[in-house]
Amino acid sequence: MANYKNALNAPIFKTISKATEELGLETYVIGGFVRDYILKRGDAKDIDIVTVGSGIELAKKVASLLPNNPKVQVFKTYGTAMLKSGTREIEFVGARKESYTENSRNPQVENGSLQDDQNRRDFTINALAISLNDNSFGELLDPFEGIADLGTKTIRTPLNPDITYSDDPLRILRAVRFATQLDFKIEKESFEALSRNAYRIEIITNERIVDELHKIMKSPVPSKGFLLLEKTGLLPHFLPELIALKGIDEKEGQTHKDNFYHTLEVVDNIAQNTDDVWLRWAALLHDIGKAPTKKFSKKVGWTFHGHEFVGSKMVYKLFKRLRMPLNEKMKFVQKMVLMSSRPIVIATESVTDSAVRRLVFDAGDYIEDLMTLCEADITTKNPKRFKKYHNNFKVVRHKIKEVEARDHIRNFQPPVSGDEIIKTFNLKPGREIGIIKEAIKEAILEGEIPNEYDAAYAFMIEKGKELGL
Ligand code: ATP
Ligand code: MG
Repeated sequence: MANYKNALNAPIFKTISKATEELGLETYVIGGFVRDYILKRGDAKDIDIVTVGSGIELAKKVASLLPNNPKVQVFKTYGTAMLKSGTREIEFVGARKESYTENSRNPQVENGSLQDDQNRRDFTINALAISLNDNSFGELLDPFEGIADLGTKTIRTPLNPDITYSDDPLRILRAVRFATQLDFKIEKESFEALSRNAYRIEIITNERIVDELHKIMKSPVPSKGFLLLEKTGLLPHFLPELIALKGIDEKEGQTHKDNFYHTLEVVDNIAQNTDDVWLRWAALLHDIGKAPTKKFSKKVGWTFHGHEFVGSKMVYKLFKRLRMPLNEKMKFVQKMVLMSSRPIVIATESVTDSAVRRLVFDAGDYIEDLMTLCEADITTKNPKRFKKYHNNFKVVRHKIKEVEARDHIRNFQPPVSGDEIIKTFNLKPGREIGIIKEAIKEAILEGEIPNEYDAAYAFMIEKGKELGL
C-alpha cells in the first residue's frame, strides 16, 4: 500500500497523532488537503481531520498539546471544532453517517465509521484519507479509486450521483467549480445527474452560490465553469441575465454576434491579465444591458443603444438579488459596465487629447482597469482588425500617460476654489459660482487652458466679465 508519510511532515500532524493515541481514537486527515497534496497544488491552507469519536474532544486535546495553547472554536450544532495553527485552519469532525430529507440540505446525522464518513463525501477525489494513527501512520485509504480519478482528471461521486446531488444540491455547483478550478472533466453519469437535479439548486442560499461563483471566476479559464452551468441548465437559476444574451437573431440578412459566447471569451481574456475577481465580474456583466436594449432597424441594422447605462443599473439589481455586497465593489463593477465603450469610441475615432482627458476625468483611479477590460473585449477573429484595435488601445494608453503627466486630470481638484471665486467677485452663494467652476473645468478638459492656478485665475476673471460681475 502506498505510503503518504511525506504529506504529513508538518509538525501539527505529529501533535494530532499524539492526541489521538492519548484519547484512544482513530483519526485521519481527509479531503482537500490530501487531494491537493497529490495534485501538487502547493500546501493547502486548511486541513480537515476526521476522527471516529468526538471531533470536539480531539480538537481540545490537540490544543492542549500545542506550545501556544490556541483557542478552540466549537460549532455545537455541527459537532465540529476548529483551531488555528500558524496560518492554517484545522477543522475537526467526528466520523458520521448522514441521511437526508427532501427539503433541506441539512441531513440527520449519527455517529459512524470512517467508511460511513467517506461515503458522505461529495467526490471520490475528496474522500481520500491518510491515517494519523500510530500503527498505520501515512497509510492512504482510498475506497472509491479517487487516486485513479486524480490521474484521469475525473469528477465522480462515491455513491449514486442522483442521490448525492439531490441530497445536497450544493454539490452540483461544487462539481462544476472543481472541474473548472482543477481542469477536470465531469464523468458522464455524474454530468447527466447534474442536469436532472439542477432544479434542486433552489434550496441553496445565495451566499453559498456566490461563494462557488467566485471560485469559478478565480479559476484560470472561468468560461469552462460558465459553459458547464449553461449546459446543465443551472445558469438560469441565478444568472438569467447571461442566458438572455444567448443566440443570434437574423433580420433581412443581418445578424449580430452571440453576446453570451462573446462575454465568456472576454472573461477568459481578462483572466489572463488580472486576478482581481471584481474586474472579472465586470467582464462577465459588461454586456448584460444588450438583451433589453436590442433593436433592429432597416437603416442601421442591429443596435444596443444605451446598453452600458441599462447594464450598470442591472448590476445593482443582480448584486442585490444574489446578496452580493452593495458596497464600493459593486460601484466599481457598475462604473466599468457604464464606461465599457468609452475607450473604444476614442480608439476608433481619432485619439484627441481632450477626449483622453475626459476619459481620465470620468474614470479616475479606475482608468487602468477600464483599459484592461476594453482590451479583453477585443474578440474579433479577423487578425488584421485584432491587431489594429490593440494598436489603437496602445495609442490611447500612451496618450493617457502623456496627458496625465502634463494635466493631472486623475482625481481632479479645481485649481481655483469656490471660496476664491466668492472673494474675487464678492458674491453671495448662488448659481454664478457653479457656472464659473464648471467653465474652468471644461476649459481645462478641452485644453483651452492648462490645469494651473495662474491660467485658471485669468480665465475666471474673463468669465466673470462675461457674466457682468
Ligand atoms: P477547497 O477548500 O479548496 O475549496 P475542499 O475539498 O477542502 O476544497 P471544503 O469545502 O473545504 O473543500 O470541504 C472539505 C471537505 O469536506 C471536502 O474535501 C469534502 O470531502 C467534504 N465536503 C465539503 N462540502 C461537501 C458537501 N457539500 N458534500 C459532501 N462533502 C463535502
Ligand atoms: Mg478546504
